[in-house]
Amino acid sequence: MNISFDLDGTLIPYDEEFETEKRGFIGRFLGIEKIRKGSRDLILTLQNKGHSINIYTTSFRSKHQIRKTFKYYGIKVDKIINQKDNISVLRNENCSASKYPPAFNFDLHIDDLPGVGLESKNLHFEAIIIKPSEANWGKLVIQKVIELENLYFESTHFKRMKMMEQFFKEKSQTNHLYTPQYETSKSINLIFENTNNFTPEIINSIENQLSKVKSKKHFGGSQWYDYELHVLSFVKHKS
Ligand SMILES: [Mg+2]
Repeated sequence: MNISFDLDGTLIPYDEEFETEKRGFIGRFLGIEKIRKGSRDLILTLQNKGHSINIYTTSFRSKHQIRKTFKYYGIKVDKIINQKDNISVLRNENCSASKYPPAFNFDLHIDDLPGVGLESKNLHFEAIIIKPSEANWGKLVIQKVIELENLYFESTHFKRMKMMEQFFKEKSQTNHLYTPQYETSKSINLIFENTNNFTPEIINSIENQLSKVKSKKHFGGSQWYDYELHVLSFVKHKS
């Protein structure tokens, strides 16, 4: 996932609103800014999980300055969007919001301003608003990332399962040996569409339906095997 962080009030304090990482004499001498305590661990954890970490700020700091600051703390960020880029891209997109992360391919944005939270609702982008006083801020970010990963995982599998149902439907119109697959995939997909809580009974019913297809005469092939694999990963993920 591409994750973007705001700077002022989120990773960099305006004043002393949150604790900061240790900055030595050389750091001060080099003009390195203070960053929020826990930033390094949080960013490295997210990067180790395979996420790309970016900066999205409406300040006019130079990218060089921002990169230098993070490098001092052992953090390598990917893209940096400052206010200069923000203004020019959002103007091109005819967007009057203060921030619009999808314009930069950011899937989740972390910010301190409630106004950005409102924009995220109005413009349908994912954001998490963290108060400067929030002590458990890193945990909140990780929770949100996990929540989005789960949604993404489910929608990817489900999209594929729906596509396969459509495939079996079309095939069954000219070859009745595809009918068991079509009917079963339709029925299982309906369960996934309408169920949040996968109880052992529901999982049993899914397994029974899958095994019934095996016992009937049906057109084999890799599509059904593929469908089964998607169902099983989804079930495993849900239970
Ligand atoms: Mg801010």
